[in-house]
Amino acid sequence: MAETLALLESHVRPGVTTAELNRLAEDECRRQGGKPAFKGYGGFPYAICSSPNDRVVHGFPDDTPLQEGDILSIDFGVFYKGFYGDSAITFAVGVLDDETQRLVTATRESLYLAIKYAVPNGRLSDVSHAVQSWVEPKGFSVVREFVGHGIGRNLHEAPQIPNYGKAGQGPLLKTGMVLAIEPMINAGMPGVKILEDGWTAVTQDGKRSAHFEHTVAITDNGPEVLTRL
Ligand code: MG
Ligand code: MG
Repeated sequence: MAETLALLESHVRPGVTTAELNRLAEDECRRQGGKPAFKGYGGFPYAICSSPNDRVVHGFPDDTPLQEGDILSIDFGVFYKGFYGDSAITFAVGVLDDETQRLVTATRESLYLAIKYAVPNGRLSDVSHAVQSWVEPKGFSVVREFVGHGIGRNLHEAPQIPNYGKAGQGPLLKTGMVLAIEPMINAGMPGVKILEDGWTAVTQDGKRSAHFEHTVAITDNGPEVLTRL
């Protein structure tokens, strides 16, 4: 699935539509023998979630051309040989303004920081705390309504993984657990609302939001990211 996201990245530019990216993702996924995990999940109609600018998560691909300076969060899940993978990236469309670039960078950094806490004998909320304590001092806010999750033979398994909270709490992490860690970070206030399509989450204040996600296995040697190239 990392190859598919890399393929999408190579096509993200002004003028491209998210419907085109959705088609590319589904074709590439099936070509490699996978099944797009989101399509049909709870009735979601597409292979990818595409959430530009003030869209937080679960956006529908459409025929609106991307514009220079936009950001586009793509969330993509795959079912392959009995297991699920789940990953998200916020792409830059052309060159971003400084504030947007700061948001995207801080969100990506918060994911990689959080991944370092996916270790045996750690506590689940160490992962959560790593995200919050990285982004909030930079003036950004953590979305509360959506969280990361366990993953494996099901797309969403226990435990839920909030992107906020005190360190040192929650379940003990153990070798063999697989976590989908996914900070969703807003440039402004944390509040989100759902559009009339029943899926698309947008920021209440209309400011931008970024989202990065990896599926991470906890091993005796530390975290192993399963969804990167
Ligand atoms: Mg995802
Ligand atoms: Mg996920």
